[in-house]
Amino acid sequence: MGHLDPETEPLDLTVEGARRILAHVQAEWPLEACGLLGGIGRRVLAVYPTRNELASPVRYRVHPEDLIRVIQELERQGWELVGIYHSHPHGPPAPSATDVAEAYYPEAVYVIAAPVHGEWRLRAFRIASGAVREVPIRLVE
Ligand SMILES: [Zn+2]
Repeated sequence: MGHLDPETEPLDLTVEGARRILAHVQAEWPLEACGLLGGIGRRVLAVYPTRNELASPVRYRVHPEDLIRVIQELERQGWELVGIYHSHPHGPPAPSATDVAEAYYPEAVYVIAAPVHGEWRLRAFRIASGAVREVPIRLVE
């Protein structure tokens, strides 16, 4: 992993994983939904929907009980926290100022789901030291 450029290495997400994220964020609309992505490197092997502790249309915080449960599951599987996803129920599919300020996991990929012209989109970003860089999403089988 060490030689790969973290700025350009894509996030590998299965079609089924993308469907799970989109089903979750659509079910929670008009509130923000959030969840965690487990796997290895930039390869997502499991999607974990979590509760938004803030139950808000404009903010999210992964419920601490869910965070602990998922971290324990990742340890059991020998996986890492690859990413964190959340929705922007009213767009846009890009990190907000709050998302940048509260990005506590610089190694994680932040996936944002938002409706664009009525169709839900997923985009991924790396947020480190206040800098935002888009990470391409590669849909895999
Ligand atoms: Zn956000």
